[in-house]
Amino acid sequence: MNPIYDLHTHSTASDGTLTPGLLVRRAAAAGVTVLALTDHDTTEGLAEAGAVARELGIALVPGVEISVTWGARTVHIVGLNLDIGNPVLRTGLAGLMNFRAWRAEEIGRRLAKHGIAQAYEGAKALSNGILIGRTHFARFLVHRRLAADTGDVFKRFLTNGKPGYVAGQWATLDAAVGWIRAAGGQAVVAHPARYGLTRTRVQALLGEFREHGGVALEVVTGSHSRDDAFTFARHAREQRLLASAGSDFHGPENPWLELGRLPTLPEGCTPIWHDWRHLASDSDPALANPGASRTALGG
Ligand code: AMP
Ligand code: MN
Ligand code: MN
Ligand code: MN
Repeated sequence: MNPIYDLHTHSTASDGTLTPGLLVRRAAAAGVTVLALTDHDTTEGLAEAGAVARELGIALVPGVEISVTWGARTVHIVGLNLDIGNPVLRTGLAGLMNFRAWRAEEIGRRLAKHGIAQAYEGAKALSNGILIGRTHFARFLVHRRLAADTGDVFKRFLTNGKPGYVAGQWATLDAAVGWIRAAGGQAVVAHPARYGLTRTRVQALLGEFREHGGVALEVVTGSHSRDDAFTFARHAREQRLLASAGSDFHGPENPWLELGRLPTLPEGCTPIWHDWRHLASDSDPALANPGASRTALGG
């Protein structure tokens, strides 16, 4: 059986709408054989996802998507094959979660000043109660019929210069890559086309990322066009980075982004999974992860 990879997904542990267990079930039903759960700034969903992955016999890659402030921008760094018990990683993510908790209240206060009452409470009720992200506010405002869809909420309320915007104070690039490496993982720049960077700035980002020990670039993702995939495949080759692929699935409400339905990597990419030895065997649990220190969570 040819493996099918999906190395970027979200659950209710962050801003996805399926529980970790249901996400894994849907992925397995869609034919995914290697799934990474990469919630924003938290690994809380991985225990439940791992249990269901073992039950269904699909490989679960323990992951995370770390929020980073680089220049004046927010950039996302995915970590794959993590030892999620690593104290450096845990402490780092805890700091981001503290910022998220404060930011959610601050977004609520700002929206209240703008005449939108109870947004914090409303967003919280749509979340797991721990990680309350902008997506939860967006869904709440759509429920309130203050906007047509979540994209509209982001544009009118939650981005730079808009009433509910609070500037991110996330990890540095150096720190995020460092936490991932401390946990024995591989760092990946997520959905690079989304940052609106010039070619020169992309090169600067990828150069710094590599200097800190980052190893891969998400070439194929739900938010890339085919042209984007070719552009970033070229960047990956030039910067000697591996290529990753993930849907960035957040839930079945976005049916155009189904799990495991990704186009293949462009010619000339070295896939990040090229040396993942656990794929060579589905029987030997000692091979369940590429590094000895990594925690095996899936089949
Ligand atoms: P946060 O990390 O809480 O600031 O929220 C970032 C998340 O919001 C992203 O991971 C997306 O899921 C979502 N998001 C960002 N921009 C948009 C947009 N324009 N439309 C819909 N969702 C968005
Ligand atoms: Mn998200
Ligand atoms: Mn992202
Ligand atoms: Mn994501």
